[in-house]
Amino acid sequence: MALKLHDTKQGRKVEFEPQEAGRVTMYLCGPTVYNYAHIGNARPAVVFDLLARVLRRRYELKFVRNFTDVDDKINAASIESGKPISEITEHFKNVYNEDMAALGVLPPDAEPCATDHIAEMVAMIETLIEKGHAYEADGHVLFDVDSNPDYGSLSKRNLREMIAGSRVEVAPYKKAAHDFVLWKPSTPELPGWDSPWGRGRPGWHIECSAMAAKHLGETIDIHAGGQDLVFPHHENEMAQSTCAHDGRPFARYWLHNGFLSMDHEKMSKSLGNVLLVHDLIARIPGEVLRLALLSAHYRQPLDWSDETVDSARRMLDRLYGAVRGIEVSEEARRSAEPPAALVAALEDDLNTPKAMAEFFGLAKALNKASDPDERAGLAARMYAAGDLMGLLRTDPEEWFAGSDTGELSADEIDALIVQRAEAKAAKDFERADAIRAELADAGVRIEDSRDGTTWRRD
Ligand code: AMP
Ligand code: ZN
Repeated sequence: MALKLHDTKQGRKVEFEPQEAGRVTMYLCGPTVYNYAHIGNARPAVVFDLLARVLRRRYELKFVRNFTDVDDKINAASIESGKPISEITEHFKNVYNEDMAALGVLPPDAEPCATDHIAEMVAMIETLIEKGHAYEADGHVLFDVDSNPDYGSLSKRNLREMIAGSRVEVAPYKKAAHDFVLWKPSTPELPGWDSPWGRGRPGWHIECSAMAAKHLGETIDIHAGGQDLVFPHHENEMAQSTCAHDGRPFARYWLHNGFLSMDHEKMSKSLGNVLLVHDLIARIPGEVLRLALLSAHYRQPLDWSDETVDSARRMLDRLYGAVRGIEVSEEARRSAEPPAALVAALEDDLNTPKAMAEFFGLAKALNKASDPDERAGLAARMYAAGDLMGLLRTDPEEWFAGSDTGELSADEIDALIVQRAEAKAAKDFERADAIRAELADAGVRIEDSRDGTTWRRD
């Protein structure tokens, strides 16, 4: 079965086919490194890390995620803190990678920094001027949106709507209100590079166009990011790249994750309603946060609350409870296959809720199995599924030693045992077995005798 992905440009789920058989290129817009990432920022990193893992099963993948290390917000942070720009960006690049590693995000194949690609940006801007898609005005270089009839085709906007919707004051040097900056002048105290248009710095959008072309070529297979990047960032990247490359397509598939919200309001630095990954990982296992981020389908909104976290923790307790006490060698883990239905769910536009249901199906089969060889085989498949999803990375004993909640309380166990006795009395053996399995899932073993039922934790 073909891998299916939802492409924003076509507005539907389509069969994925790489431009070159067996090889895939993917670019994800990375963070602007001037402060800590919040859990909403982590959603694209985690979601597209999962996609990278799924793609690597079938293809040779080159996955690039950039760092935006030149930006007016970084300049402002430098002025505010009195620290040099490079100190700020170096620090937050490291913090970002440490935070993402805690969430099980594997390092991409390349992590280019914008400031290492100024020459490529300047060259691309020169090409755009030469080809009549950009113009210099007052030390700035602007992209001439009217020169590109395809403009708006990604975000499905027309120019009139865009002008009506823009409340920005029109700079006098612009030919049209919707033209956007490729290069702007820098004052002596701001970072700047020499260019044919004087000392200046690049606009945000040209950074990604230049880095994508340098590392992945003119046409990339997958371009990904959060939904808020569709317009203007990705629309502008697409305009720059296709116009610089004589109309050759920029990205064959555009993927965008939905927003993470809190109390149904988008989490964002400007609103101030942020939970920083750096703070969360100090008290919540990274795997719990990862699963919480994957608990909703990536295109759907995800409202973050204590319940989101608790529910992910309970889910992991069930998975760890199933594999607890079973020896699985590294070799067995590596050579085992995750369930085909779980892989199929992920290959269907990353249907993580369905994939998790399949994961629990496997855990249930393991809990029910009694033959040691069968149990070892099923446990190896659990770990293989975990490796695909970036879960089950901890030793089960350590997992339970570190978690103070999630276990059934003695009262809850007693209540389930009573329900099971009632089910048996009513000859509802299916339900009775299900309760036994539920207890086993939670690491509780029960024993029936003439005097009643006793239980112990595994
Ligand atoms: P920024 O640092 O604001 O450019 O964001 C980095 C990445 O996080 C981008 O791909 C954004 O689209 C994404 N992002 C920002 N806020 C959220 C949110 N609340 N939910 C999901 N993704 C977000
Ligand atoms: Zn970008």
